[in-house]
Amino acid sequence: MDLSGRAIAITGATSGIGEATAVLAAAAGASVALAGRRADRLESLAARINDDGGRAVALPTDVAVEDEARAFVQHAYEQLGRLDVLVNNAGVMLLGAVTGADTAEWRQMIEVNCLGLLYCTHAALPVMGEQGGGHIVNVSSVAGRRASLGTGVYNMTKFGVTAFSESLRLEALHAGIRVTVIEPGYVETELQGHNAGKDFVVDAIAQAQEQIGKVLEAEDIARAILYCVSQPEHVNVSEVMVVPRGQQR
Ligand code: NDP
Repeated sequence: MDLSGRAIAITGATSGIGEATAVLAAAAGASVALAGRRADRLESLAARINDDGGRAVALPTDVAVEDEARAFVQHAYEQLGRLDVLVNNAGVMLLGAVTGADTAEWRQMIEVNCLGLLYCTHAALPVMGEQGGGHIVNVSSVAGRRASLGTGVYNMTKFGVTAFSESLRLEALHAGIRVTVIEPGYVETELQGHNAGKDFVVDAIAQAQEQIGKVLEAEDIARAILYCVSQPEHVNVSEVMVVPRGQQR
């Protein structure tokens, strides 16, 4: 796969799927702009990519803050010289029953998973439009296609991402901008750790993993993303669900 000359901005690049996507995209020749809140992680990832002969810029960003999200897209464009792909990957998964939930967790999921994605998209559309085209990749989830017990608010954010992505595809196609929604199943990342301390949720996650057997690695999703962004101009891979072979739900 050759992504030479392409500029790719990735949110949530400090770990998991975002980090793997940055590494694989850079290895394929793309220059990458990296967003996330943990500046030290971003700096060391950028250094690793640059040391390996790639080109990466670290742009510490909280995508839930509109000005920071907009600045990320603008600085990515300015520092890379173009903006071919925006991967809206940043996300949090805070699970549990609705009854008695800490509503701050709901706000965080809505602000990161939905609003952060919207802010970055809003900032990228005019840049890509002026450039004559681009590609927006939104990372949703199987949880954006089917709901389960104890995952309702996360489901709500990811159903939102899936629905928004199809509507955006229809709007953006006139500007030469492609839109893809990626729906991973269970991937071994730091995401599950967001629920540390909630015994019921931790047990449910462990049980799901045991039923599945071998779960996905972040690189499995990174490869799916790169497949989508490396298609010929006339091809828009609009939706991709990738699950571990053993995953039933
Ligand atoms: P990780 O927890 O490893 O990565 C999440 C990333 O999001 C981190 O880089 C984190 O960076 C970033 N992030 C969180 N909050 C913010 C914020 N406010 N501003 C900027 N960045 C933020 O998990 P994954 O790699 O698994 O998650 C990536 C995406 O994949 C998410 O959208 C998730 O919902 C989705 N997904 C994951 C699945 C899985 O099984 N792992 C399954 C289906 C979908 P930092 O903390 O440094 O800000």
